[in-house]
Amino acid sequence: MSGPILQVEGLRVHYGAIEALRGLSLEVPDGQVVALIGANGAGKTTTLRAVSRMLRASAGAVRFRGEDVTRLPSHALVARGMAHAPEGRGIFLNLTVRENLELGAYLRRDRPGILRDAERAYALFPILAERRTQVCGTLSGGEQQMLAVARALMSKPRLMLLDEPSLGLAPQVVEKIFTVLREVNREGVALLLVEQNAHKALQLAHRAYVLETGNIVMQGTGAELLASPEVRKAYLGE
Ligand code: ATP
Repeated sequence: MSGPILQVEGLRVHYGAIEALRGLSLEVPDGQVVALIGANGAGKTTTLRAVSRMLRASAGAVRFRGEDVTRLPSHALVARGMAHAPEGRGIFLNLTVRENLELGAYLRRDRPGILRDAERAYALFPILAERRTQVCGTLSGGEQQMLAVARALMSKPRLMLLDEPSLGLAPQVVEKIFTVLREVNREGVALLLVEQNAHKALQLAHRAYVLETGNIVMQGTGAELLASPEVRKAYLGE
């Protein structure tokens, strides 16, 4: 498929009286990395949650692989190839690493393929292989974040939604996660990446959007936004 794998048009989301998204539109071209940057409270998490139908939008449309999925339940999106690695990681702390990975494949029936993909996840993140029988509550924050990415991969996604994969992690762990994301993308998986770490996100991204109070205020290639004086001042700490 050429053209966008994801098209979001005019998305509105309300939390009671608060309008968190005010008619947001964006696109993810197939096979590309798109970053969404913006300050705390701009609506980044809300965007991902509305796209993956973890919450309901009051208006707007979401098209995935050319299909209108605006009203489908989350599991139907997973089945079509959309995986969401949520903020706060969403892994089960009382289950083992292996059990969490298997849950990522809950809609699949191809047991050999699932086992192969688990081995692939362990190859990407060797520390998870070492810890495969450990319950996740004993993992470090970085290991839990790696597991969240690995688990999302277990559904064999065409598009991954990633919410702040670098949040609170040591620089080396951030490097590791971004290296894996680059590799996953190289294999053809598109990424919609929400990040506070605008610098790393823009380096990885083919395209990027800047979100302010529920609306896109700027867009361009990752390189264009990295070079933009406004972005440098507001999001790159210059
Ligand atoms: P952060 O980086 O802090 O997560 P964000 O850009 O992801 O920020 P959102 O979490 O999407 O922003 O929040 C967007 C707006 O919606 C904010 O004003 C926030 O206070 C509000 N909001 C988010 N979740 C809720 C909720 N469950 N109930 C009420 N308001 C909410």
